[in-house]
Amino acid sequence: MQMPELDDLYADIILDHYKNPRNQGLIPSASLNAEGFNPFCGDQVKLSISLETNGTISNVGFEGEGCSISQASASIMTVLLIGKNLEQALLLNNTFRKLMSGNTISELSELDIGELAALEGVKEFPVRIKCALLPWATLVDAMNQYR
Ligand code: ZN
Repeated sequence: MQMPELDDLYADIILDHYKNPRNQGLIPSASLNAEGFNPFCGDQVKLSISLETNGTISNVGFEGEGCSISQASASIMTVLLIGKNLEQALLLNNTFRKLMSGNTISELSELDIGELAALEGVKEFPVRIKCALLPWATLVDAMNQYR
């Protein structure tokens, strides 16, 4: 059983990122770019990532349209990615996928997933999981271009 006040807090976080998306807008001459589309919901995410020469993510920008879950997930993702390297970004992606496939937060590694925890409830709604994962799938596409 979940505590109702916890659900409210999580809903507030999602709504806040949806209404005030962080790192909005694409970065001109970014190192990596990718676009993702979720036909099941109509969600769209465009992602641009700037890398330093040592591979650290110095900036992330996104533009998108769609439901609150997809856009909040994108916004939270951009916040988490800045300052990380691509390996850490991939680890974060894998951890979030585990969360969406049914693992609880306590079962995950000690990796700090920050406000992504607010999206944990989405795993109860299989159709919405695609929404939550769209920005992450787009991130993987962008990183694949780098290799
Ligand atoms: Zn959606």
